[in-house]
Amino acid sequence: MTDCLFCKMVSGEIKPDVVFEDEKVLAFKDINPQAPMHVLVVPKLHIANLNALREAALGGHMLKIAACIAEEQGYAESGYRAVFNCNDDGGQTVHHLHLHVIGGRRMTWPPG
Ligand code: 5GP
Ligand code: ZN
Repeated sequence: MTDCLFCKMVSGEIKPDVVFEDEKVLAFKDINPQAPMHVLVVPKLHIANLNALREAALGGHMLKIAACIAEEQGYAESGYRAVFNCNDDGGQTVHHLHLHVIGGRRMTWPPG
């Protein structure tokens, strides 16, 4: 997708602050962090949102990477949140699948 922001990050056209990369995913710091740790894990393939995810293993991989990043950044024990926003009511603004990994402060529930 040529005009997709996160595809441009995957291709290197836009360079985010990358914290992890492998053959399937790129993980980088959110530009508008909602907590001391706020990382986005995105698949390298363009997938619009959770509704369009066909490969269950890819979703599982994204979650495993999220846990590894939280561990690596020192938030595994204190706790963190991993969230997919989907479409308008879910609060999705960038239509390329991404997993928010947020930690370093106490979260509230339910989310607003
Ligand atoms: P959504 O609202 O779609 O669940 O999350 C999109 C996220 O992308 C937001 O948290 C927003 O701050 C982040 N974001 C938007 N534009 C950029 C950008 O240019 N660079 C980075 N690193 N994050 C971005
Ligand atoms: Zn994309």
